Amino acid sequence: MAKKASKQGLTALPLGGLDEIGLNLMVYECDGDMILVDVGLTFPDEYAPGTDIVVPDVSYIRENVDRLKGIFITHAHEDHIGALPYLWEELGKAPVYATQFTECVLSGKMAQFDLLPPEYNIHVTKEGERYKAGCFEVEYISITHSVPGSAALVIRTPYGNIVNTGDYKLDRNPVLGGPSNLERIKQIGEEGVLALFSDSTDIFGEGEKPSETELSESLDDIIAGQDKAIFVSPFASNFERILSVSEIAVKHGRKICYAGRSIQNMVQYAKECNMFPDYLLDHIVDMSNASRIAREDILYFVTGSQAQPNAMLNRLSAGENYRGIQIASGDTVILSSRHIPGNERAIQNMMNRLTKAGARVLSGHNAFVHVGGHGHKDETKQIYQLLKPQYSVPSYGTYTHLKEHQKFVEDNKLAKCLFITNGDKLHLAPEEPSIIERVETGRCYVDGYNILDEDKFILRERRQMSFDGLATVTLGIDFRNKSIAFGPIVKTKGIIDEDLQDDVLETVVAEVERSLSGKYKDGRIDDPLEAEEVMRQAVRRAFGRERGRKPVTVPLVVEIQ
Ligand SMILES: [Zn+2]
Repeated sequence: MAKKASKQGLTALPLGGLDEIGLNLMVYECDGDMILVDVGLTFPDEYAPGTDIVVPDVSYIRENVDRLKGIFITHAHEDHIGALPYLWEELGKAPVYATQFTECVLSGKMAQFDLLPPEYNIHVTKEGERYKAGCFEVEYISITHSVPGSAALVIRTPYGNIVNTGDYKLDRNPVLGGPSNLERIKQIGEEGVLALFSDSTDIFGEGEKPSETELSESLDDIIAGQDKAIFVSPFASNFERILSVSEIAVKHGRKICYAGRSIQNMVQYAKECNMFPDYLLDHIVDMSNASRIAREDILYFVTGSQAQPNAMLNRLSAGENYRGIQIASGDTVILSSRHIPGNERAIQNMMNRLTKAGARVLSGHNAFVHVGGHGHKDETKQIYQLLKPQYSVPSYGTYTHLKEHQKFVEDNKLAKCLFITNGDKLHLAPEEPSIIERVETGRCYVDGYNILDEDKFILRERRQMSFDGLATVTLGIDFRNKSIAFGPIVKTKGIIDEDLQDDVLETVVAEVERSLSGKYKDGRIDDPLEAEEVMRQAVRRAFGRERGRKPVTVPLVVEIQ
């Protein structure tokens, strides 16, 4: 049962990421001070056709922004940093903390929004140092994931320590950077941990996640055996993979071409951050020169592993020649990423097209070409055993993932589990933990230059149009005697082919005429708004009868002289 909310004590409030994949945003409050961990985005589904991205609803933070002391970012993935440029003003331009690589990526994104220093200030964190924000003190600890500079956060408070793992796996042999700083994690465990907020993304995986180095060996074998062009499609955010495949390509005498904006951006951030090895620079060719290289001597990185409509790989699969780059018979396409649930059918269709074009397509189904960046059960257990938290708050995953995490913790007696989802404000200390408040949360859709609320009628209308099409009906009336001067004229989009089905259109027009003459027996239309509603209903009724679809209908009555 919810208690009355108080500003005293230590609380945690997820505004995104707990009951979904992505959109990660955690709010911690301590005696009135507030910090955020991550400000992530996610991508829209068919619920919001045409919108660009989804950001969390931050109304709660906006209303309390004077108490916000800092924004702490765990790593440089879109689902942890991507919403920050969009929400920058709303979040009160609070100080941001991030490791060096994350800072590079974030600054690049901020610049795309014309946000440049000193408009914002990102503090680059160093391992072992503590950063004070109100009554919080935050320490960054290196942890392996799939992007450089990933960190777990130790959040010290007067009520005890919180650890937020961010995304992690415990890779013993990463190809980039060192392994996780397990020694420091163990020391934190000895210091004492009140609550652990730990990644649930791959909690269903048994045992330990294979290392990125093991994967590199598999990719090396695959690449060595090809005698035509190779196209590799990783997640653009997976810089570790981009780097390891680049090195393998060069080892086998191939040039590298980074094709696709988001991959090029990630490589650029790495160069700016001195994380891109100099020796590789001589082996890069740009897109305009790539087609001059013999097919057996080139490896392309392409975007679009999820078959996104406008991404490079999807276009190539449709036979497109993109600045001289094309799929040809005998080429190899490696989908070096997982298939995100919901995208399977589009990916399968794309794979079919690639295969028809003569390419050999390798994915997780038929080859060892990908490992994810999230730990399995054994790694989760190891983190708990090192940190020995009093409480576990399963974090970052769908409801099913969080429940599996809870079951795993309870079955193995790793900690007492506190189960919360987005909007549950959890009091952690000094009193017994409990949910003390239910906060409104939701999704906001970035739509061009607008941000739309989840329940905004604009999205409802857009969905209706995408399902049922659009019709307009126009009527002119003489402003002197209020009689019909012209029309009704009916136009449609996405319902019928007007050239071939003019009989349908005539039937609809006849229905509108019948409705108007039935309503206005003397031929006078004194109330244009009322007439518009009569026409709207008539059009929808007629199309419903003729086509089994009631389109979004825009009626218009114009008075003419
Ligand atoms: Zn991540």
